[in-house]
Amino acid sequence: MATVLVVEDDEFVRSAIIRELAGRRHVVRSAGCALDALREISQHPPDAVVLDLGLPDLDGSEALKMVRGISDVPVIVATARDDEAEIVRLLQAGADDYLVKPFSGDHLGARLEAVLRRARSAPPPQVLRVGGLLVDVNRREAALDGGPLTLTRREFDLLAYLAVRADRVVTRKELRTEVWHQSYGDDQTIDVHLSWLRRKLGESASNPRYLHTVRGVGVMLSAPR
Ligand code: CA
Repeated sequence: MATVLVVEDDEFVRSAIIRELAGRRHVVRSAGCALDALREISQHPPDAVVLDLGLPDLDGSEALKMVRGISDVPVIVATARDDEAEIVRLLQAGADDYLVKPFSGDHLGARLEAVLRRARSAPPPQVLRVGGLLVDVNRREAALDGGPLTLTRREFDLLAYLAVRADRVVTRKELRTEVWHQSYGDDQTIDVHLSWLRRKLGESASNPRYLHTVRGVGVMLSAPR
């Protein structure tokens, strides 16, 4: 089940598509013009969009471009023209797939399942959540229980590396090669950084909440129980 936004100005075609998708147990919302569709996408982000290219207010490829400006949602464009150059252009402009009108309900259903499947297998967003700890890998920001953490570059790298591998023991050797990029060295540097990180997380080695030392092996980040 997914939430699908159907953008189609022809009421007859629109209700046929809505019926078809609802019959496939999708939640269907609809819009009759591009600007309504854009508003809908920003206010109630759908899982996929079926976008008619012949809309009254905006040219189809303009509409597609504007959708892409605000969202990465999978878009299937529905075009009346079986024109290869046009279809290639639309795919390059960010459409995920296309349908040439008139299309059958089965055809629509199959294309929709395919784009939803692809979207679901896409890499997860790089914001990691471990209990009350939030690590935004792309923005290099971290917060604990809603309050921002001020971390040095190395502390952030260390935290992010552990957060990606939450609930798994990471060895000091792995930290040394993957975070410090050193093939050998002493573990004291790592231990010192771990203790700084621990202090910023408001905990101590003897009373850990997130950072758990596994004696003789390494360290594990996990949410407090
Ligand atoms: Ca139309």
